[in-house]
Amino acid sequence: MFLQKIILKNFKSFKGKVVIDLPSLITAIVGPNGSGKSNIVDAIRWALGEQSFKNLRVEKGEDLIFAGNKKETAASLCEVELIFDNQLHLFNSDYNEISILRRIERSGENSYFLNHKPCRLKDIIDLTASAKIGLKGFSIINQGAVESLLLVSPLERRIMLEEILGLKNLELKKEEAERKLEETNINLDKSLALEKEILPHLRSLKRQVSRWERREEIEGELKLKERQYFTYLWKSLVRDNLPQTEKLAELKERIEKLTQNIQKEESKLVTLKENENADLENKIQKITQEIIELQNQKSELLRELGRQEVSSKITITEADLAQEISNLKKKLEELLKIEEIETIHQQIKDLLISLDSCLKPPSPKEKPAILKLQEQLSQLEEKIALKGASLKQFQTELTQKNQNFRSNFEQINNLRLERENLLKEEQREELLLEKYKLRLEDFERRLKEADLTLEEIKAEAAQPTPLASEGDLISLEKQIFRLKKEIAEIGTEDLNVKKEYEEVTQRYEFLTQQREDLEKSSRDLKILIQQLTKEIESTFEKSLSEINEDFNKYFRLMFQGGFARLEQIKKSRAEQTLENNSQNEILAAVPEENYWGVDIKIDIPKTDLKSLEMLSGGEKTLVAISLLLAIVTQSEPPLVILDEIDAALDEDNSQRFSKILTELGKNTQFIIITHNRSTMAAAQIIYGVTIGPDNSSQLLSIKLEDSFSLLQGEKR
Ligand code: ATP
Repeated sequence: MFLQKIILKNFKSFKGKVVIDLPSLITAIVGPNGSGKSNIVDAIRWALGEQSFKNLRVEKGEDLIFAGNKKETAASLCEVELIFDNQLHLFNSDYNEISILRRIERSGENSYFLNHKPCRLKDIIDLTASAKIGLKGFSIINQGAVESLLLVSPLERRIMLEEILGLKNLELKKEEAERKLEETNINLDKSLALEKEILPHLRSLKRQVSRWERREEIEGELKLKERQYFTYLWKSLVRDNLPQTEKLAELKERIEKLTQNIQKEESKLVTLKENENADLENKIQKITQEIIELQNQKSELLRELGRQEVSSKITITEADLAQEISNLKKKLEELLKIEEIETIHQQIKDLLISLDSCLKPPSPKEKPAILKLQEQLSQLEEKIALKGASLKQFQTELTQKNQNFRSNFEQINNLRLERENLLKEEQREELLLEKYKLRLEDFERRLKEADLTLEEIKAEAAQPTPLASEGDLISLEKQIFRLKKEIAEIGTEDLNVKKEYEEVTQRYEFLTQQREDLEKSSRDLKILIQQLTKEIESTFEKSLSEINEDFNKYFRLMFQGGFARLEQIKKSRAEQTLENNSQNEILAAVPEENYWGVDIKIDIPKTDLKSLEMLSGGEKTLVAISLLLAIVTQSEPPLVILDEIDAALDEDNSQRFSKILTELGKNTQFIIITHNRSTMAAAQIIYGVTIGPDNSSQLLSIKLEDSFSLLQGEKR
């Protein structure tokens, strides 16, 4: 059995807990008027989520709770639980048993439970729709409702049919998709508007930022060029400097050596000059003096000798002698002028010979004094000769010394000259070195300005790149100048603008993504709606033609001929609204494109009656029951509850109805509230509802015969 149990707790006329077991496919509920039979149907309807007080026959929710009476106190809450077997998974749920429970408290608080877990009304509606027992379908039909099948607008009839045909689920899906599509389109519009609003600002920010991005690019290029430039520069600096430092070091070494040599030579010179020469000169002076003295002595001696010889030589005239003496005197005077000892010596010898020639040898008696003088003279001359030899030796020595001194002096001069030249060269090199240092300082300053370090440049220079030519450097300088100019033109970065750009970009990307997602959702939803519409329409069309077969069959059985069928019609909202004013609310909610419905066409045999309005109450019921049974036959809902729909049937039709019911009851569970004996006969189990001594509804399981007596009692 699909619906296995109905458990009532203080629901309407039922006091406390009442369990209705439903072990058979067809259950009849019988009992006197006002005993509470329809309250059971209300209970089912309410548990399945009914929201209309009118359909529940109350004014307010509180009226559903057992109100109490003179004997019984009122209950504070009521509950209805429906327990379904879901082994065939008629419900879209994995559970084998489904319990739907609804509770209301006097405070008005309403709660729903699925398998005893709180849930939403929507969960109940979705679940019951999945099992084709939704409230809009034909699961619960009371007498009025049967007639309303005929009275409702074509559109509402269509909605009812969709429910019973199990299309409600698809309809719900479609409605959901349509609602989502509408929301999606609203959001899409919003998103597009925002995107449009943000775009000009974003473009302007982007223009600014891309200039700065270009700046970053240029800065990168500049850094590269500067690195290249400074590397080239460094290499040329090092290249220019290296030979200088080496040369300078060499020069310094040479100068140092030269200075040492000069000092050595100078000290030698000083020694030469100061000591030895003075001594030698003194010696020469002294010996010269001695020679002069000896010469004076000799002259004296010669004069004496002359006198001696003159006295002894009478033969000579006085005039000749005077002449001779004058000649001698002249010669001696000349001798005195001669410096060289040898010459003096020779002259003196010559003078002696001339004296000898002019003078006669002395007479023997004068003779010893002259000899003595001559001997003295000879000794003197020997002395003079000795001294002269010494003088000559000293002078030679002095000349030698002087020559040494001069050559030493010259050597020193040459060394000094050489050093002078080297110093000049050193000065030149130092100047170059100084220049190099200045260039290096300048280089380092520029390097710092370019935010580069010497270490980096040295590392770069260690790479095997060729040395730059002057032309390369000039070209690099030009490029660097151009890049710097470009950077200056771009100006400095404004971080706030950059940040804003990033934020706006992110926002824009988000909006674009959102818009794309929404567009995709919109497309997908449209496709889904199309598919669902197609599926609903094709299923509906197919089911409608199948229902028509049974509708016509049951109609012809009930009316003994004629024909009946359902027809799809397309009517505008305005037309349908005009036809049925009372349904305005429902109709208003349906979109225009879905505004199509189902009409009933009939042809009663032996009459011209073709309009439903012209039928009697009984005839209307017959048409409605034929249609209802056709729908049930076709859709095979798992559960149908019929509340006194057979009241208007005569005996023959009651039996026909009972027969059809027995047939349908093989596949569909029926709960039938009836006073009709033929209908009761179709049931496998009959429950009787009576008013108990405490004035609440009492439920009892009875046999068919008992049900008759119960009804007899009712009649009484
Ligand atoms: P009929 O055969 O005439 O249709 P019925 O057996 O279907 O009658 P119901 O309509 O189910 O009878 O029951 C109506 C009865 O339920 C009324 O007597 C009414 O007083 C009672 N009733 C309705 N609501 C409550 C309530 N909240 N508390 C107690 N009794 C209630």
